[in-house]
Amino acid sequence: MTTRINLSACNKLQLDEFCNELDLPRYRADQLFQWIYLKNAGSFGEMTNLSKALRGEFEQRAELRGVRQTSVSRSKDGTTKCLFRLHDEKLVEAVLIPEFFDDGVADRLTVCVSSQVGCVFGCSFCATGRMGFFRNLTIGEITGQVLSMNAIAEAEYGKRITNIVYMGMVEPFHNYAPVVDSAEILCDPLGLNLSPRRITISTVGLTRQIRTYADEKRPWNLAISLHAADDEKRNQIMPINETLNLAALRQVLVHYHRTMKQPVTYEYLLFDQFNDSPDDARNLAAIARWIPSKINIIMYNSVEGVTLQRAREDRLNRFMSELTNLGARATVRRSRGDDIDAGCGQLAIRDQDSQGKTIAGRQKVQP
Ligand code: SF4
Repeated sequence: MTTRINLSACNKLQLDEFCNELDLPRYRADQLFQWIYLKNAGSFGEMTNLSKALRGEFEQRAELRGVRQTSVSRSKDGTTKCLFRLHDEKLVEAVLIPEFFDDGVADRLTVCVSSQVGCVFGCSFCATGRMGFFRNLTIGEITGQVLSMNAIAEAEYGKRITNIVYMGMVEPFHNYAPVVDSAEILCDPLGLNLSPRRITISTVGLTRQIRTYADEKRPWNLAISLHAADDEKRNQIMPINETLNLAALRQVLVHYHRTMKQPVTYEYLLFDQFNDSPDDARNLAAIARWIPSKINIIMYNSVEGVTLQRAREDRLNRFMSELTNLGARATVRRSRGDDIDAGCGQLAIRDQDSQGKTIAGRQKVQP
């Protein structure tokens, strides 16, 4: 028996090629695209504007391996976290973070999406890093989470999601092609038609992929998970920094800005008495001057087994005034959904059946 092609792992071009091989007119590829990447169809039987014969032919030659939503948790601050089961029983999480106008009407509806099962990079403060890496997600496993969260947004707030952040329980650039393909699909006029400026892709600083991203002129915002502003401290909490240090990051970000003329955002979790001193603020402000940038200071939510703790308010205030005095553009982000373990660094699947791979044991990886 011939292997069936997984159409929910295909980009637009590959769907075109699939229909071409079957001698189908071009609009059939658009119909398939919309069923998979807008209507989130889980089977060919749902594709009611295709003839029964065509659905039968697709059934024989192809399959759809999307995501199944298995549970929903709601935080008292309005954040919703969903757990999704994949075809091989692996689990991933996505989070919907609403922000409201003063009158209580929803303003921004941001989805934080996962693009891998687990993460190999083993950052010491991160629950995902502690579970290790299992596998990359396909395009449809990424867009399926977004479309499910969009359905929740429409049901609860009467509007579509407005923003997507590729942060989730992963390192998005470690699964580069499906991540950029999925972002393209989510911006496609036949799909959710989101503006590229509404999508942010975050990375710990994988320099080869940042260079490719710039050279390919990818239009989505770029965020760097920095979390420490000198190599010594970054090495302690982020093993990747031993291979790709701040000098390497600086070099590639200068290239990114020369090519794209876009600013970058630095994400900086503030840990009590680890990276929250005036000296740390000065180092961070110096990094912020490499290229035009802004900084998100994120208040950490504790993770079981991690000794690092959230910075105290007085240290946060001192840190922020130091940054502001040095001319850095910085905003404090209160992590959301911590009562349902949906905050930054807290996502993890505790019932994955084994421990995934990690570089935290100081094994070097080729990023
Ligand atoms: S912080 Fe990001 S890169 Fe580091 S272990 Fe967690 S998910 Fe991976």
